[in-house]
Amino acid sequence: MTTEPTTQLTGHSIVAGSPLVGAAGTLAGQDPATAEALEPAYSLLDDAQVAQATAAAQDAFASFSALAPEPHAQFLEQAAANIDALGPDVVARAMRETGLPAARLKGELARTTGQLRLFAQVVRQGDHRGVRIDPALPDRAPLPRVDIRQRKVPLGPVAVFGASNFPLAFSTAGGDTASALAAGCPVVVKAHNAHPGTAELVGRAVADAVAQCGLHPGVFSLVYGPGNAVGQALVSDPAIQAVGFTGSRGGGLALVAAAAARTVPIPVYAEMSSINPTILLDGALAGDVDTLAAAYLTSVTGSSGQLCTAPGLVFVPDGARGDAFVEATGRAAAAAAGQTMLTAGIAEAWQDGVDALAAQDGVRLVGAGSPGDTRNAPAPAVFASSVPTLLSNPVLQAEIFGAASLVVRYADAEELLAAVGRLEGQLTVTLHLTEADRETAAALLPVLERTAGRILANGWPTGVEVGHAMVHGGPFPATSDSRSTSVGTLAIERFLRPVAYQNLPEYLLPEPVRSDNPWHLTRRVDGVLDVVLGAGEPSEAEPAEAAR
Ligand code: NAP
Repeated sequence: MTTEPTTQLTGHSIVAGSPLVGAAGTLAGQDPATAEALEPAYSLLDDAQVAQATAAAQDAFASFSALAPEPHAQFLEQAAANIDALGPDVVARAMRETGLPAARLKGELARTTGQLRLFAQVVRQGDHRGVRIDPALPDRAPLPRVDIRQRKVPLGPVAVFGASNFPLAFSTAGGDTASALAAGCPVVVKAHNAHPGTAELVGRAVADAVAQCGLHPGVFSLVYGPGNAVGQALVSDPAIQAVGFTGSRGGGLALVAAAAARTVPIPVYAEMSSINPTILLDGALAGDVDTLAAAYLTSVTGSSGQLCTAPGLVFVPDGARGDAFVEATGRAAAAAAGQTMLTAGIAEAWQDGVDALAAQDGVRLVGAGSPGDTRNAPAPAVFASSVPTLLSNPVLQAEIFGAASLVVRYADAEELLAAVGRLEGQLTVTLHLTEADRETAAALLPVLERTAGRILANGWPTGVEVGHAMVHGGPFPATSDSRSTSVGTLAIERFLRPVAYQNLPEYLLPEPVRSDNPWHLTRRVDGVLDVVLGAGEPSEAEPAEAAR
């Protein structure tokens, strides 16, 4: 076992602000490049200890959900500042635990703290509260109208499952946690066992922010243990009101089943499986196919292909232009080198997927690169097939998580439309086109809208902007609920529900729906948007009280 860099790590869960020594054995992280076990080993919680975290989250809910915008936003910003302060330590630990390169992890760190700060702006601005006011119309004929006011309230404590492939931006304080905390929901994170030290460093930064801001310590907990024990206990716990998950289709579906089997079922927002079809139309192949193929391979191999939006399926037209692109792809694939994958298990699953694809009738290898010089760094590979084979064999649509992709040749626009219309739900679909392809593209667009959550033109789907307009979601199996996104500010909607207040006296109304609008929210009054300019700007007139 290595002894560094572990000085700040306790090896235990963080429950309501304090370390909790697990009673159900230990598990050590592993360097996937060397198979070296990393200290410290992490103690794993039993069911009763998980229940301590959920009970604390439930205790924290009343005060946290009622927090005024300014102290709420300041908490998110404090968490971001604490995580930024971890800087090189957390990047170094994440590199050891995941095999991901420093540049990628530095970018992820910036994305993690950037999205916490973005959600702080959302909290200040307050649109997510969705306030609507239909004032009373006592003189309306034939019947008077009563006063009805609506706002959205947080669901309650949320369980978040950290993702293996984003140890920072989609794990302990990642998008699910940030959006749930911004909604006003306490969070219990189940650490991903592949990066336990990274999880603890970030978890302590968030727990410290909770304490620094004077909030109830149950607002945030981080628990360690196997999915089939700790994960199941969390989802089944009556205190938990929603679940955020990124991982495998099998894992996501197991959580959906557990949530549905509860006495009181709860929503599970699982982001699972997508092969991100990319469609090359004929006009797009008129240019430099070598540059296009190189960009394709960059998108396939980035982060060792372990991105939810990696292009696993590329439609290429029959004919000379398509042939030239496929040949260029073969050259680009041959030049690609393997990089360490996240875990030995994920590398094995990749190999199994590639072996299964290669063994199918009507599938041929276009090109393969060279393996990396560490463990678990297999050679990237691209295969080719045809639309009839794709449509007759489900193996060709299965996600291969890692650097592998399948080119599918299509005869004409009609065959392409038929093929795209029969694809499973996806996070993204991409069109490469020129003006000359307008007619085919226009015919495809409605089909693409039914298929995916994000439609791109003339780019590659990897790299997801965190903003107000982003959708990182899509029909099953891309996610378990196509009505939402797990990236971007709209992600907050997953953890809110509307409540209407009919004829309540003014003194009883919550601030967001009070007539004097003390939180300066933009609201829809009698159907018309009543915009408050400068909503969301911190104001000196509003003292940053810790809680109301
Ligand atoms: P995973 O096996 O689904 O695990 C994700 C998290 O869920 C882990 O914390 C895991 O805990 C927990 N979990 C899994 N099954 C569970 C169950 N039945 N009940 C309760 N909790 C459960 O995913 P992974 O470890 O990240 O990677 C494995 C595979 O997932 C990859 O090979 C890839 O196919 C896929 N993946 C897809 C994406 C994507 O964005 N599409 C992203 C990451 C991974 P334990 O580890 O303790 O079991």
